[in-house]
Amino acid sequence: MTVAVWFRSDLRVQDNPALHAACSSREQVLAFYFFTPEQFAEHDMGLTRQRFVIDNLLSLSQDLQKIGVPLLAERCDRFDDSVKKLLTLCRQYGITQLHFNEEYELNERHRDTQAFSLLTKANIGVQCHQDQTLLAPGSVMTGQGSPYRVFTPFKRAWVQLARRDAVQPLPAPKKRQMPDVSATALEKIERWVKPQAANAFWKAGSKEAYRRLDQFAELRIEGYQEQRDFPALDGTSQLSPYLAVGALSPRACIHAALSANHFEWDSGNPGIQTWINELIWREFYKHLIFNFPELCKGRAFQPATEFVRWQRNPELLDAWKNGTTGFPIVDAAMRQLSTLGWMHNRLRMVTAMFLTKHLFIHWQEGERWFMQQLIDGDFAANNGGWQWSASTGADAAPYFRVFNPTRQSERFDADGTFIRHWLPELNTLGSRQIHDPAPLKRQLCRYPQPIVDHRVAVDRIKQEFQSLKGIALA
Ligand SMILES: Cc1cc2nc3c(=O)[nH]c(=O)nc-3n(C[C@H](O)[C@H](O)[C@H](O)COP(=O)(O)OP(=O)(O)OC[C@H]3O[C@@H](n4cnc5c(N)ncnc54)[C@H](O)[C@@H]3O)c2cc1C
Repeated sequence: MTVAVWFRSDLRVQDNPALHAACSSREQVLAFYFFTPEQFAEHDMGLTRQRFVIDNLLSLSQDLQKIGVPLLAERCDRFDDSVKKLLTLCRQYGITQLHFNEEYELNERHRDTQAFSLLTKANIGVQCHQDQTLLAPGSVMTGQGSPYRVFTPFKRAWVQLARRDAVQPLPAPKKRQMPDVSATALEKIERWVKPQAANAFWKAGSKEAYRRLDQFAELRIEGYQEQRDFPALDGTSQLSPYLAVGALSPRACIHAALSANHFEWDSGNPGIQTWINELIWREFYKHLIFNFPELCKGRAFQPATEFVRWQRNPELLDAWKNGTTGFPIVDAAMRQLSTLGWMHNRLRMVTAMFLTKHLFIHWQEGERWFMQQLIDGDFAANNGGWQWSASTGADAAPYFRVFNPTRQSERFDADGTFIRHWLPELNTLGSRQIHDPAPLKRQLCRYPQPIVDHRVAVDRIKQEFQSLKGIALA
């Protein structure tokens, strides 16, 4: 008898419930992974993110080898094909029991239902495990049994439930005898996607992820609350790419934070509490896509906001994508994104509000571009962040709250260090001028004039949302 683990976005050996369950039997264990580039592209997963999956897969294969589990990785186009391949492999290797960790996006759930039905028909046992969030989506509900739509009460309920159990990561599986099956050659996996320039900034593998977590928890977490909003500082953990591919578990993050906070949830160090709060936002968005699957079909969370008459303007959209809007903080952020495949959270909010509320372009255009660029692209967090910024989402920023990019820049990059780093053409400007250079200075620096007027844009978005009240919010 042989047991198998189907890896997906949980590319690690440590604290992996599916692997842990498989390894708790005495049987030999095989690991499967299916790389589905066509499906990934349909989900707008960019090549940097795809290559990060490959790099983590290579590292996972080596880690699994050390505990006596060969990884069989196959490339197939789509989820449908992966399910068929899964059945073929299960039959070929006489698998009697398959374990996998749940995913919550709609296509992923359809794939898993299909796999469950095919395998059970073939008399292969299937066991799903809870991994992507600390608390299972569907388990944090209001007193009336409905899902939360607002973060603060969700958080309160979440903390109450979470603190009942000790947040203890699972021990790593012990080394077992390697079955007589060869793992897929690393050179073969390596060829599936070429490394992109941004991949050079992100060392892959869970060893690196845990190293970063330990270092953050030891040295920087206590200063998180004061530093997290300043993009020129190394104030946040930069763990999002590792959480997105599952090289790191959310439980390990929460455990590290609690350990640094003497296991206090809502007291103790403010930096640690604030970081835990962000991890709960991550949970909130994953629970939302599970409870409101329409979100996975491109729907706005607030149906009334589907009537907003966003403009189609490819020229303005390109200026935003290329970082040539004439708003230095926006352009610097967009260049950070295209270079690193990552953008600071404060600037994700600034650039998302700029696209939707200044350029008046549909949030889905921005959502798509971010997904294509981000190494940490995660449907739930990205959709949640975009709908928050566009005021169409759950517990979103109110429509009349429009970040003024210049004020944000003066506040969070006061001396212009971040702007100078990403826009060297503005290097010679002083810290008072750099946030909104005078027209002549822009010409001298070969930097564009602003493509939109802040006040005009704010008036337009307010009018549009106010007109909705009459139509659909009544
Ligand atoms: C428009 C927009 C798009 C976004 N797209 C993504 C995305 O595709 N993938 C993604 O992981 N995050 C996304 N975020 C959330 C957030 O910006 C990133 O998680 C964060 O910047 C990652 O950096 P970090 O690891 O240093 O975060 P830290 O500040 O160290 O936070 C720790 C972890 O908490 C989680 N987290 C933090 N803030 C949020 C948040 N607001 N929502 C959900 N989870 C959060 C992340 O997993 C993060 O790694 C988006 C936010 C906005 C406004």
